[in-house]
Amino acid sequence: MNRTDFIQQGKTIGIIGGGQLGQMMAISAKYAGMKVITLDPTPNCPCGQVADRQIVAEYSDIFAINELAERSDVLTYEFENVDLNALKDVSDKVAIPQGTSLLYITKHRIREKNFLRSAGCQTAPYVAVKNMSDLRKAVKQIGYNCVLKTCEGGYDGHGQEVLHSDADLNSDHVKEILATGDCILEGWVPFKLEASVMVARNANGEISVFPVSENYNKDEILHLSIVPARIPHDIYIKAQKIAVQIAEAIDLRGILGVEMFILDNGDIYINELAPRPHNSGHYSIEACNFSQFDLHDRAICNWPLPKIKLLSKVVMVNVLGQHVAGIHQIISDKPNWHFHDYGKAEVRHNRKMGHVTILTNDIEKTIVEITATRIWDK
Ligand code: AMP
Repeated sequence: MNRTDFIQQGKTIGIIGGGQLGQMMAISAKYAGMKVITLDPTPNCPCGQVADRQIVAEYSDIFAINELAERSDVLTYEFENVDLNALKDVSDKVAIPQGTSLLYITKHRIREKNFLRSAGCQTAPYVAVKNMSDLRKAVKQIGYNCVLKTCEGGYDGHGQEVLHSDADLNSDHVKEILATGDCILEGWVPFKLEASVMVARNANGEISVFPVSENYNKDEILHLSIVPARIPHDIYIKAQKIAVQIAEAIDLRGILGVEMFILDNGDIYINELAPRPHNSGHYSIEACNFSQFDLHDRAICNWPLPKIKLLSKVVMVNVLGQHVAGIHQIISDKPNWHFHDYGKAEVRHNRKMGHVTILTNDIEKTIVEITATRIWDK
């Protein structure tokens, strides 16, 4: 097969951002015989612990991004808040298969929703909001309940507030969000459950789609994923088809996480896109023939993409700062729990420190086992 953009084993993948997603990309890349350099301001960051080299610098440091580009054969990123201009500036030095338009779209909630609608997907109703007077008009249009979000820079529930009535409009948090001057008001989607699908595509147009994950959040941070999602077969297939449809519409290179709301009537609304591996796809490391990280690396290097098989039912639960002590206490009694510790030096409340993956024949029993530890009560 003619693979002009094929990036061979032994070449170097440069990763902007050195958190857990970069770390797991790097581990997969090392298995495949690639070299890895990461750029991150925290010395000995999670990815730095497994990469061949870390450039310690701010993500916005143009000189550092230049150095990363010069030392890499292919450049990728582990989060969406990458400086687009910096990426464009180095595009003559290094292959950037993911390009910049996917990032441009997914960085901004209104652009993202406009794109999703144009790709034929359903989304929550939404209106752009710049100030309090816009917000009052938007609330009249959309109605309660609704959710105000910053268009850029939000993550894990940061930069958003659910509004139930006019009384909520005057809160300090709403004012803080409005002060960014670039917000979106979304109608509240009365979903039955939240789900996500990871999808990968390479420059040859080959596509691999992962199983559908059923997701539960606490404080708007992913808590637990169950795979395969316990939804009717036709909805399951529809969710995977939508992910493929989006990958094609966006001319994807690499991996994309598609977050969905599934309604009682089987309708699927797309919540948002993650142009990178996603927390809800971590189960794939143990539960699939290839992980989301393998597929990301393969796709950006334009290697052939496999058909993804789910080898076992699986539950993944996140380990946040407040769960670390509990996990350390019980892990010696859990021979079947895969505990991933990202190696972060500083433990903070609600900070993602690791995750546990449990392959199982009985999802309900496994959830009872997780709940019985009381670790996740906090
Ligand atoms: P986001 O940062 O947009 O992914 O939002 C974080 C979480 O808030 C989602 O996973 C949902 O649980 C909830 N959420 C956000 N927007 C909406 C919405 N328009 N309707 C219902 N739930 C939402």
